[in-house]
Amino acid sequence: MTFAKNIVDWQIKFGRHDLPWQINKDPYRILLSEIMLQQTQVSAVIPFFKKFIHRFPSLKILAEAKTDDVMAYWAGLGYYRRAHNLHNLAKIVTVKYRGELPNNSKILITLPGIGRSTASAIACFAFNAHEPILDGNVKRILCRAFMVSGPIQKKSTETALWTLAETLMPHKQLSASAYAQGLMDLGSLVCKRNKPLCDSCPIQGECKAFLTKSQHLFPEKIKRKTLPVKEKTVILFHNYKNIVLQKRPSTGIWSGLWSLPEDQSDCSEEMKSFSKSIPKNEKIHLPIVLHKFTHFHLKIQTIAVIYNGDSFKLKANKSLKQVAWANIQQYGIPSPIKKILEDFYKNNILKN
Ligand code: SF4
Repeated sequence: MTFAKNIVDWQIKFGRHDLPWQINKDPYRILLSEIMLQQTQVSAVIPFFKKFIHRFPSLKILAEAKTDDVMAYWAGLGYYRRAHNLHNLAKIVTVKYRGELPNNSKILITLPGIGRSTASAIACFAFNAHEPILDGNVKRILCRAFMVSGPIQKKSTETALWTLAETLMPHKQLSASAYAQGLMDLGSLVCKRNKPLCDSCPIQGECKAFLTKSQHLFPEKIKRKTLPVKEKTVILFHNYKNIVLQKRPSTGIWSGLWSLPEDQSDCSEEMKSFSKSIPKNEKIHLPIVLHKFTHFHLKIQTIAVIYNGDSFKLKANKSLKQVAWANIQQYGIPSPIKKILEDFYKNNILKN
């Protein structure tokens, strides 16, 4: 099976061997890296992984942590459902499996946030299982190397790719983890989404797309509709020293993070009447920020309002909290909101 052998030989020579989650075979580190790497590139994951593992060095410590603390360390990495799932997973493993991550992908897949490819990757890297993986990078390589038709988002294409991935598995003498890592590295370093570096590719001689000069046609693209643009107005209540944050609901975008109160409907009655009492010329409209999500774009209008002392009480609404500017780093705040706050702080507060 030259395909797998070529990948393994290439990985040993040119692949990555010093990623922070490769220093040992600790199943928790491998689990964390696989969850963080879902839909996120290695270079973006590394700093988050280091900070997270430093603060939560074991599944037990993660299980015992407060959700707010976990979200604060995930803030900025995006796809926050992953953090909630990971936290729940840690609690389940602590109670049901005495803190030991199951070594079997059939059990791993039953845990929150773990799909088939992630379960196989963990089983493979942490427990030497001999199983195929199929993440985004692997899908791209297989689509090109075997000219698999159909967009990878389609169920039928995915089924065909899984069958192919199973067929291509190396024989047991070859390391399945070197093969899995090799595919991941090849997708990330050589068979890139745009402009694959075919001259450096170990499977060039057997890649059908290369041999027919049709790399750009695979994977087939789905026709993207123009993404809808949604709008949101947030209110930045502050008194120079403090700001008011509001905890997001547990579902929807930025679930469980701390953000700014959203328009009038989210504010407490005290805040609403206070906000109404402020003359229009004392409300500052900050520049609109555009944030891109996978399925839509979001225009964020921020209105800054100054309050004095305890002009309104926050106790009526438990999701609201007055936070010192100096302490906002301790809160899990979505990156566009954090950017708005940082810019505002630099441009306005420092001048006062
Ligand atoms: Fe990708 Fe090019 Fe290698 Fe084919 S030859 S797998 S297109 S890098």
